[in-house]
Amino acid sequence: MSTAAAQDFDGQRARLVAEVDATYAATRLETGFAAMSPPVRAALGKVERHRFVPARQQSLAYRNRPLPIGSGQTISQPYIVALSTDLVLPQAGQRVLEIGTGSGYQAAVLAEIVSTVYSVELLPALGKEAAQRLQSLGYANVEVRIGDGYQGWPEHAPFDAIVVTAAAPKVPEALVEQLKPGGRMVIPVGAAGGAQELLLLTKRADGGIERRSVLPVRFVPLVPGK
Ligand code: SAH
Repeated sequence: MSTAAAQDFDGQRARLVAEVDATYAATRLETGFAAMSPPVRAALGKVERHRFVPARQQSLAYRNRPLPIGSGQTISQPYIVALSTDLVLPQAGQRVLEIGTGSGYQAAVLAEIVSTVYSVELLPALGKEAAQRLQSLGYANVEVRIGDGYQGWPEHAPFDAIVVTAAAPKVPEALVEQLKPGGRMVIPVGAAGGAQELLLLTKRADGGIERRSVLPVRFVPLVPGK
């Protein structure tokens, strides 16, 4: 029935950006961010989220909420994608590891800002689909690997930043090791389906780790790999 043109995805995306900024303003005391940084706002305004969700979800693609993407997984809420990106202070030229490729949307947002995104997905069907999608959308700077995110991606370590998009019971040691001194990691930690917190970890120059709890969140679980 409805066509892409009739749905006005560009207009919907512009309204989503305004809505995410409003959510930033409402959570500024917890997060320390009163508004999206200019690069993150530009990325959110550019990446076509409707291309990352199944056809039957497209009309909902620009709501500020998670959506099902198949295999029991979800594309995260746009506010959480933006905030996770801002929390690691991404810079042009950096190399970033993402755990939990899912649809590829968070990887695309990161890829608009940094030089290379390495993304690990456990489920082959999702990972392959996301890799094809990212390639067809022109994201030549995203590499997707099927594997267990608990192990990170040692061949490309160390990373300037790590963004984990599924909840782990505790911070995986391999990921901490693969973070550069001065690097930042954002990761939801807590029980599957229970209370989780979005943690920001900063690795100091001396290798010590600073932890800050940013927000209560609800993510799908980071499933132990085999
Ligand atoms: N970042 C995604 C949202 C991902 S939902 C997006 O932007 O769409 C979390 C993803 O983590 C799911 O795709 C799930 O299959 C994946 N996942 C779960 N456990 C994992 C593991 N051990 N290693 C890698 N990926 C995992």
